[in-house]
Amino acid sequence: MTELVQHWIDGARTTGASVRTGDVFNPATGAVARQVALAEPSDVDLAVAAAVKAGREWAESSLATRSKILFEYRHLLHAHRDELAALITAEHGKVLSDAAGEVQRGLEVVEFACGIPHLLKGEHSEQVSRGVDAYSVREPLGVVAGITPFNFPVMVPMWMFPLAIAAGNAFVLKPSERDPSASVRLAELFTEAGLPDGVFNVLQGDAMAVNALLDHPDVAGVSFVGSTPIARHVYARGTANGKRVQALGGAKNHMVVLPDADVDVAADAAVSAGYGSAGERCMAISVVVAVGDIADQLVSAIAARTTELTTGPGTDPAAQMGPLVTGVHRDRVTSYVDAGVAAGAALVVDGRGFAPAGHADGFWLAPTLFDNVTPDMTIYQDEIFGPVLSVVRVPTFDAAVDLVNANPYGNGTAIYTGDGLAAREYQRRVHVGMIGVNVPIPVPMAYYSFGGWKDSLFGDTHVHGAEGVKFYTRAKAITARWPRQSGIDLGFPTHG
Ligand code: NAD
Repeated sequence: MTELVQHWIDGARTTGASVRTGDVFNPATGAVARQVALAEPSDVDLAVAAAVKAGREWAESSLATRSKILFEYRHLLHAHRDELAALITAEHGKVLSDAAGEVQRGLEVVEFACGIPHLLKGEHSEQVSRGVDAYSVREPLGVVAGITPFNFPVMVPMWMFPLAIAAGNAFVLKPSERDPSASVRLAELFTEAGLPDGVFNVLQGDAMAVNALLDHPDVAGVSFVGSTPIARHVYARGTANGKRVQALGGAKNHMVVLPDADVDVAADAAVSAGYGSAGERCMAISVVVAVGDIADQLVSAIAARTTELTTGPGTDPAAQMGPLVTGVHRDRVTSYVDAGVAAGAALVVDGRGFAPAGHADGFWLAPTLFDNVTPDMTIYQDEIFGPVLSVVRVPTFDAAVDLVNANPYGNGTAIYTGDGLAAREYQRRVHVGMIGVNVPIPVPMAYYSFGGWKDSLFGDTHVHGAEGVKFYTRAKAITARWPRQSGIDLGFPTHG
């Protein structure tokens, strides 16, 4: 019998009322490795009820207690980082070193959340009027839900729940059904660190669980990360139900290479950011914009590096890139390569039909490179989310800026140049949330906030950092007087 990945509700593994299950694959072999329970609406009720109950007491816990538990959690995550990375690789497919990097970036949000006593400090103004003081506090929302994608089964949930819980909320996580195991381990370790049962719950499931969370009257806020169509749906349904929602969507990230750039540096960056994690990153570079006469040299340098990459099982230390997450996704990505060829793009490196020795049934597609891609092609327009890099040639810096700004997505972008003024001009003119100057994947540190613009984010708050604290709390402004005498005054209160 295959193992069943269960929910984590009120401090214990449970199958609840779930009768439906989903396949969880080992992407390197193509075999079904586990089954995952898929929540019914009654499981959602159970998880939310546990969160409501535990959340009341948790919201009363002292900042010192919360901080202490987070420090202990940080310690446990560090001690179990290899185990977590192995869980990611087993179900997602990415190479172990990449999975370890993901754990590290998630852990940094826990480190940020350890400082919650400082982060929740309000403001205080003495004597705003005679004998009157004014101050502000931030209070938790209550129960918050997080809905996360397959591509970072540890890091993306950790963008959300450590900070939400540190701020005094209870949390229900609905991770991706493609790689569900790591989330349960994250919950177990939090319990081991001293978190009371019910404060952090994991609900395995699909659209049924998501929609039940969006409709549940006891869920006050929703953080979502995933594809743009689902982000749009989650934002619309959640806000229609009166919830606070931040919904981060898909991406098409452009890396602009100016004529003065160092070709080797730019080619290294394009290959690393284009094919790392098999292109299954929301901050992956999927379009290289070659400006002016650097294009021929740049394409040759990228092609030379692309053909030298080693693709293989994520557990193989020699592999630089692993398989795609499922066979269905691999076939979808491959169909984009077919479409690119049919549309007339120049296929410089063709990754189709590849399989490493002994792994014929894994979900493989080797790194693939297109040149002379134009904005009317689907390989340019759609988020492919695979190891397919497109080069678009433009004549000028202005044409590059116009191309980036005409794209409906606005998650990340990078510029490669030795010209500081051009980089500054680019940073000021592009309509994109996260910008790298000679940095291909500009993921902000935990103490800054992560988020895109346009179709890459619905809602107005980015995740983690100061904006994360703001999202998971509500402000109160208090005006206080301790009078020794009083009198009637029907005028509007003014100061003096
Ligand atoms: P997805 O949108 O298919 O799934 C995301 C979550 O939504 C999952 O938990 C899934 O179960 C749920 N879901 C799927 N279909 C649903 C439906 N019809 N109704 C309600 N819920 C539904 O995304 P994915 O394939 O798991 O992840 C890849 C996508 O995530 C890419 O588009 C990528 O760009 C995006 N992503 C964005 C960011 C960011 O920060 N902007 C970060 C990581 C991933």
